[in-house]
Amino acid sequence: MTGKCRTGKMKKIILSMLLGGSLLIPAAVSADEMKVSTQHAQERREILQKYREDDAVHQMLVVSHTTGWEAKIWFYEKQEYHDAWTLTFESTAFVGLNEMGKTVAGDGKTPLGDYEITGAFGILENPGTALSYIDVTPTTYACGDDCEYYNTIIDTEETGHDCSGEEMYKYSPEYNYGLTTGYNSENVYPLGSAIFVHCKGLKPFTGGCIALDESDMKTVLMAAEDGMRIYLDEYYE
Ligand SMILES: [Zn+2]
Repeated sequence: MTGKCRTGKMKKIILSMLLGGSLLIPAAVSADEMKVSTQHAQERREILQKYREDDAVHQMLVVSHTTGWEAKIWFYEKQEYHDAWTLTFESTAFVGLNEMGKTVAGDGKTPLGDYEITGAFGILENPGTALSYIDVTPTTYACGDDCEYYNTIIDTEETGHDCSGEEMYKYSPEYNYGLTTGYNSENVYPLGSAIFVHCKGLKPFTGGCIALDESDMKTVLMAAEDGMRIYLDEYYE
């Protein structure tokens, strides 16, 4: 019993360190970290300006990892007048179990960088997005096998592929709505597959995706058009 209690207490301490980390960080920010912070903010500004000048891009989701499994998100939509970005909403999201900087399948990390949003999918009916929308059915899989379908969403009934990847239909509410990203767009095995923006589930982290509140996910989905970008970086207070 005592042992169990101790374990529980230790878990609580670790959890409070993870969850409360943001409260402790500001006091411990060094000059070097401030420099990094300024640099990241500058890079974020530059990426917004870059796509402001790109007529093919009309929406941007900025995801900034804060602490533990948490991230801040900002959703921008471009106004025709002066191609100005307006902030539609800001919110929070969950990232990978092992945080940021994905390099290989199974590392539990969410990628850093700038990617295209390549399409949408969902177990629920398409709420009216302008993106191409894959209806997730019991035969829809996100392939993670070393084969021609790696890093693509397939219908095993159509392909005949005996897929050992993610059986997407099982992941509700996570895959009620989702967006596909251009991460590993060359589909090189095993650099990572199925890096999605999807709805939050019961776990306060993902396997390497970005999880939004379902209401935020739906807002993004309804606004998204071809050419939308997602930008992921590290955030410092
Ligand atoms: Zn497969």
